[in-house]
Amino acid sequence: MARHFGAIPGVPVGAAYADREAVAEANVHKPLQAGISGGEKEGADSIVVSGGYEDDEDYGSYIVYTGHGGQDPVTKRQIADQTLTAGNLALAVSADRGLPVRVVRGWRGDPAHSPTSGYRYDGLFYVESYGQATGRAGFKIWRYRLVQQPAGNPVTNPPPQPPPGGAASTAYSTVQRLVRNTAVTQWVKELHDFTCQVCGLRLMTAAGPYAEGAHLRPVGSPHHGPDDVGNVLCLCPNDHVRFDRGAIVIDDGWNVVERATGQVLGRLHRRPAHVLDDRHARYHRDLFP
Ligand SMILES: [Zn+2]
Repeated sequence: MARHFGAIPGVPVGAAYADREAVAEANVHKPLQAGISGGEKEGADSIVVSGGYEDDEDYGSYIVYTGHGGQDPVTKRQIADQTLTAGNLALAVSADRGLPVRVVRGWRGDPAHSPTSGYRYDGLFYVESYGQATGRAGFKIWRYRLVQQPAGNPVTNPPPQPPPGGAASTAYSTVQRLVRNTAVTQWVKELHDFTCQVCGLRLMTAAGPYAEGAHLRPVGSPHHGPDDVGNVLCLCPNDHVRFDRGAIVIDDGWNVVERATGQVLGRLHRRPAHVLDDRHARYHRDLFP
């Protein structure tokens, strides 16, 4: 049976279940053990947040979620590095495609946001960003920032693959990516005259030149990068996506490097008035080893 993304018809946000079997029975999260339901090619359709990983952080409207793997099956302690495979890769695919992820919270999770017993369906979230980090136990983990779907933006199930020929009958929408704009990013973009610091493109729209401010060290938990000019690049949308998803990184000599091949693509275009902090470039590089 095809994996179902988005809300389950007839299951309201807040639906409560006594145990994982009941959650699976309702098709909200089918695996009985795994915290991530997903396929490496299709993406992840649901997760369970239930305190199983010490590096999880729950803020209610967003969650810093730890990927799976690397735990001792008996003690549940982290004993090895996690890899970007299986459910972890599925969550990364969900980030790239803007797929909705059903979130289930369990009684072992953060008491501020979790049910006191059993499990609760808490609606749809999106994977805003992800990267590798060193967890509390000292091993490499993959971490995902999931943000709650804003109210009034209903998501229904995407059409089956391959898409039906001709007119697609199922309307659906996903949130691909949210671009943060602040006074700081605006200042950086204007300084560079909206010209991409990686490829030199100055994209012209009907409303004028368009560029995006890209933070080297991502802002917000878990990364806590500052919103200051030393942490912001002016990029075209293509290079912003390549940068945020770890396709390109910046080396210590301010060269742009293609991560997959190690090839230097060129020098980052810099301006004297815009002083970048190399620690933030290194932080970004470490997210995508
Ligand atoms: Zn560019």
